[in-house]
Formats: sequence, C-alpha cells, structure tokens
Amino acid sequence: MDCIFCQIASGKIPSDIIYQDEELIAFRDIKPQAPVHLIIIPRKHIPSLDQLSQADSSLIGRMIAIANQLAKGEGIADKGYRLAINSGEEGGQLVPHLHLHLLGGRRLSGTLG
Ligand code: 5GP
Ligand code: ZN
Repeated sequence: MDCIFCQIASGKIPSDIIYQDEELIAFRDIKPQAPVHLIIIPRKHIPSLDQLSQADSSLIGRMIAIANQLAKGEGIADKGYRLAINSGEEGGQLVPHLHLHLLGGRRLSGTLG
C-alpha cells in the first residue's frame, strides 16, 4: 500500500504524532495552514468520506470527539476552531485516505470555498 497516510499510521513515514490509539491517529500537517493544523485519520484505509460505510459511522464520531479533545490540548478550544473534511477532487481532497483537518490559532477566513 503506497498510501501516505497508511504509511504515517504504520510509522514508515515519520510525522509529528500527537495522539494515537488502536483506531485513530493524529499528527501535525506538514504544510500548516494555521498556527494549529492537525490531521486526524482512522488507521483503516477508507479512501474518502464518500466511501464511509454505515458500519464506520461511529468512527467518524470518534474522530470528531478526539479532534475536540486535541483542540483543548492545543489551547484553542475557547477561542474557536474549524473541523473540515475534503472529499473527492472538487472537494479539494489531495490525499485519498479519509482525514479530518483541525484548524485554529488564528481567525479563520469566513468563506469555506
Ligand atoms: P487534503 O487536501 O487531502 O484534504 O489534505 C491533505 C493534507 O495532508 C494537506 O494539508 C497536506 O499538507 C497534508 N500532508 C500531505 N502529505 C503529508 C505528509 O507526508 N505528512 C504530513 N504530516 N502531512 C501531509
Ligand atoms: Zn491509507
């Protein structure tokens, strides 16, 4: 599997991992778009949000819960932050492994696209 995020999850590609458990892993984005920019992924290779099955719906709930916890840890929970999932080409998804962006630490743009 030559998926970048699978390789980060397995430790084959080094990254600044700030959280991991048996199901999820979170690391700092290599090209941060805000002072805090974390990526939260499932270890399981799910190509995109579009391919999330009903059985995986609890996984996405956990991804959001962990993102909220990490926002507190990063000290941005009170001021506010943004969670984003890009899906597919027109949605701006570049890495084909489901991931949640956690952005914060500055006032974010008022537009979403
Ligand atoms: P997408 O556009 O697919 O929603 O976001 C992919 C994100 O992954 C981008 O923000 C990009 O900077 C980040 N990224 C791509 N390759 C790597 C990598 O090898 N390491 C880390 N830490 N982030 C990466
Ligand atoms: Zn993958």
